[in-house]
Amino acid sequence: MKRLLSLLILALPASMNAQMSNDDVHKYDHTNQLFYRNEIVIPGFDGYQTLKCDFHIHTCFSDGTVWPNVRVDEAWQEGLDAIAMTDHLEYRPFSDIVQADHNASYEIAKKEADNLGFILIKGAEITRSKPLGHMNAIFIKDANSLAVEDPLKAIDIALEQGGYIIWNHPGWPDNKSTMYEIHERLIAEGKISAYEAYNYMESYPLTFDWYEQYGIAPLANTDIHGPVAQDYACGPDWRRPMTLVFATERSEAGIREALDARRTLAYFQGMLVGSAEYLTKLIAVSLKTRHVGDRMEVTNVSDITYTMVQGDALYIFPARKTAIVPALTGPLTVKNCLYGHNKHLEYEF
Ligand SMILES: [Zn+2]
Ligand SMILES: [Zn+2]
Repeated sequence: MKRLLSLLILALPASMNAQMSNDDVHKYDHTNQLFYRNEIVIPGFDGYQTLKCDFHIHTCFSDGTVWPNVRVDEAWQEGLDAIAMTDHLEYRPFSDIVQADHNASYEIAKKEADNLGFILIKGAEITRSKPLGHMNAIFIKDANSLAVEDPLKAIDIALEQGGYIIWNHPGWPDNKSTMYEIHERLIAEGKISAYEAYNYMESYPLTFDWYEQYGIAPLANTDIHGPVAQDYACGPDWRRPMTLVFATERSEAGIREALDARRTLAYFQGMLVGSAEYLTKLIAVSLKTRHVGDRMEVTNVSDITYTMVQGDALYIFPARKTAIVPALTGPLTVKNCLYGHNKHLEYEF
């Protein structure tokens, strides 16, 4: 019995820490949890769950400086549900050192995504000068087959593979968000389905009308090239841009169905841009109200702060806090929700 007990005592620390220290080397204790994820709480509505996605990611297989699997770790840690790997087809400044085909970054990252149960979408960025500009093709099967001379042919090949086309950073690099005839044609043909209202550290306010005007879904993506902690090292309140996707299920198929139905909002720097219907529904499930005497208690159960004005009065409903306010009736203007260019949502409790 005594011997058994001493064996148990010996066995215990060994199971807690597989790498034993000895007199020569001290190995610092670590748990089996290699790293942690910061959850972002944004409720869903109408039976949809809100997924946080970034559909524009670069690695050192094009002009990024990060190995592909790190992109998955970063996004997982930052509370995202899905990313799309979208290395440039045409611009690969490290290709003499990093020699691989256009699917390699996805394939490397996919192993890490599968380890974490994270959703990784295969994509590529078709990279041409304006008027066409840059287009992300996501949900594709083979990025290599998109590397053709004619970018319109590349778009068609992507669509034949079941792909989905996003018009990237409409206001970059010339600081003009011009919709050219080629875009109108591709939208009319159902080939461009979404666009970036936010890219990296930019927004394109004139494009905020495009959901209503053209029926294309607004997205917010990072277009990240450096390590995320470096590119968005702007302060504790900063979150990377993300696209909120209202999906029936947390899966690649769920995201695809939601994107086809244009159920998205673009989210960056506390601002939400997109359909008035989805903005209204998101606020309704985020701000819970209760009457307290002649006043009102508003509990924000989400991680998004809402700022509203009514007349001269300003009401701020901070993320995950409860506020006591006068009983509010009639519409309030939501300062951080836009359903078009300079069009602030009107919300009634
Ligand atoms: Zn681009
Ligand atoms: Zn890009």
